[in-house]
Amino acid sequence: MSTVVWLEEVGKEDVPVVGGKGASLGEMINIGVPVPGGFAVTAQGYHDFLDRSGIEKELFDVLKVNVNNNEELERASARAKELILKADVPEAIEKAIKERYQELCEREGEEVFVAVRSSATAEDLPDASFAGQQETFLNVRGADHVYEAVKKCWASLYGARAIFYRVEQGFDHEKVYLSAIVQKMIDSEKSGVMFSSDPVSGDPRVIIESAWGLGETVVSGSVSPDNYVVDRLSKKIIGRTIAKKEIMTVRDHKTGETVTLPVPTEKKEAVVLSDGEIMDLVKHAEVLERHYGIPQDIEFGVEEGKIFILQSRPITTIHAKAASTEPKPAEQEQKVLVRGLGASPGLVSGTVKIVTGSGDLDKVLQGDIMVTEMTMPDMVPAMKRAAAIITDEGGMTCHAAIVSRELGCPAVVGTKTGTKILNDGMIVTVNGRKGRVYEGAVAKAEKPAAAPAATVSYKPVTATEIKVNVSMPEAAEQAAATLADGVGLLRVEHVILGLGKTPRYFIKHGRSDEYVDELVKGIKLVADAFYPKPVWVRTLDAPTDEFRAMEGGENEPEEHNPMLGWRGIRRDLTDTDHFRLEMAAFKKLHEQGDDNVGIMLPMVQEASELRRAKQIMREEGLDLDKIDVGIMVETPAAALTIEEFIEEGLDFISFGTNDLTQYTLAVDRNNENVANLYNEFHPAVIKLIEYVVERCNKAGVKTSICGQAGSYPEMAKRLVEIGITSISSNIDAVATVRETVARAELIMMLKALRERKD
Ligand code: PEP
Ligand code: MG
Repeated sequence: MSTVVWLEEVGKEDVPVVGGKGASLGEMINIGVPVPGGFAVTAQGYHDFLDRSGIEKELFDVLKVNVNNNEELERASARAKELILKADVPEAIEKAIKERYQELCEREGEEVFVAVRSSATAEDLPDASFAGQQETFLNVRGADHVYEAVKKCWASLYGARAIFYRVEQGFDHEKVYLSAIVQKMIDSEKSGVMFSSDPVSGDPRVIIESAWGLGETVVSGSVSPDNYVVDRLSKKIIGRTIAKKEIMTVRDHKTGETVTLPVPTEKKEAVVLSDGEIMDLVKHAEVLERHYGIPQDIEFGVEEGKIFILQSRPITTIHAKAASTEPKPAEQEQKVLVRGLGASPGLVSGTVKIVTGSGDLDKVLQGDIMVTEMTMPDMVPAMKRAAAIITDEGGMTCHAAIVSRELGCPAVVGTKTGTKILNDGMIVTVNGRKGRVYEGAVAKAEKPAAAPAATVSYKPVTATEIKVNVSMPEAAEQAAATLADGVGLLRVEHVILGLGKTPRYFIKHGRSDEYVDELVKGIKLVADAFYPKPVWVRTLDAPTDEFRAMEGGENEPEEHNPMLGWRGIRRDLTDTDHFRLEMAAFKKLHEQGDDNVGIMLPMVQEASELRRAKQIMREEGLDLDKIDVGIMVETPAAALTIEEFIEEGLDFISFGTNDLTQYTLAVDRNNENVANLYNEFHPAVIKLIEYVVERCNKAGVKTSICGQAGSYPEMAKRLVEIGITSISSNIDAVATVRETVARAELIMMLKALRERKD
């Protein structure tokens, strides 16, 4: 086998020759998919280099170390890399690489920038996945530099993480080879990612996300991309959301380095992809899905109007990205590294990335296991890329738990020691149902939480309304697919925190109108998805510590206990400038016809707060006869004085049992040390709920629940018996809660009938 081969000369059966990455690129070219041109330095080329350079024996001797001893491992890695980089490469191999690069330049008509990627393969198990273990070198130009980069790829086979992984997974170093893929870099004027089928429901809908410039911004989540949805059956574009694209990454033509620039004003809100481009992309997506027989997750770029497909992977990798095909031990045989609360179900394996602050977020790549003390709202883009989330702190209603459930991403929270015991680069398996983190990769992957429950095939009718909670507006479609009777809680913080700047920052810099527009845009996504069903939007309720990481957050007060601090209605009524902007957004929404939007006030503790808030609403021109206004019952004070609120006038109440439980029991909901005492079923909490429901029912005020307890079937049954009007659950729990409620209602009716007969 030759030292170098063109990519078009290989196909999917050539994994032993050019590794999985090279084989996949070759296969795509062979089925007519436009892939940037390039060549591979084959596994044989690498083998010949080792053979003829005379370093082989010393190299493999160096690797005989205890990989659990970090110092030894690092030393071995450094020496092995040095051996490769300093070795004499046989002239014929060096010449073959340099000449092939020159030929590539001739083909392309210029001295091209290339990416030099590692594509590893194992002799006995060619399909084994070594994804992400070895290095990639971008923006390489010139024959000498390409040759050096290939050597660096070979050396990266001996990175500490790669050595550790092979030993842990039982691979023989001597039987693992590396092919270096040298491929022209595309200078995309626009780029993005697409799913050939709906990644949640599996429906035949292509979902495309695209933004200006190179793909990094879309893949890393640092820009909100345009979103296009195409129905593959009717071949119609059925959804088109044009985002405001603030930044883009472009290539400096001299150095090849990528730089991030602001998007020119006229392009910020312009549509990125033309209809023609969208439909061309759909064709490629269909070809790839048909060819591989499984929905694909595809990266693309558009250079001078020509579409290039950069990568295509099976969609299952969204939830089990690091799961490789090598045989793995079963769960029960694996060592448990840490334990915590199973906050979001699912079983996935991946590489640990420890996040100690916002500066580390870029470390988390698609499919990694994110490990942190506690997540904060500015971490959501990284959480979206993670295959699973592990936190030291927190209970079932902490930020990490709420967001993970909505993302359908397995999570274990409150492990206390996760960030200490786990290390960057370790391969672990997370069981988000049992709350366990295992060493290594384990056998089969469980389905993610959100996927199965999101689509509804049978829907029992219930007298009690079944609603759904939404935190991130992007989840609107998924939430609406549950066929819920409305949204019982839209946490507006996620719209605000997604802006990266505090509301105060906008006000201070004279950008209030922009802020209101962002609120309208985020809320509208949900309001439209549910229209005409009611959507209760909660006004801002972010504790001060959650604002601190944002631009403008440095002015947030330092509070001893933010949970009991300046949040919810307290903030609304003292920071009235901001509350008025929220009201302006509600007014705009109603004027635009989104009249299904209601307002819900958080953290109230006395009726005068409701009175003052309503006064401001009127001053801002809201017609309270046309807008539902309600409160969250989250403090025992609000529960016990509910009649005073009723007298003040309100349309609904909703139990925020996450807070109601912590304030009733004096148990910090985010403190893993007292998580065992946190109990929404505590008789005191139930008594408060009964007290409020009874009085509201008498007064004709609707009652609901939007805390996590509303997702528990046992609580749903109790609430039906207590006489609640509606129950709002997490997306993944709606179907189960609906069934539980239907049965509980039937049992109650049957019982009443029987009693009447007797
Ligand atoms: C609650 O307290 O139950 C609630 C739904 O609000 P959050 O979890 O956002 O505090
Ligand atoms: Mg709350």
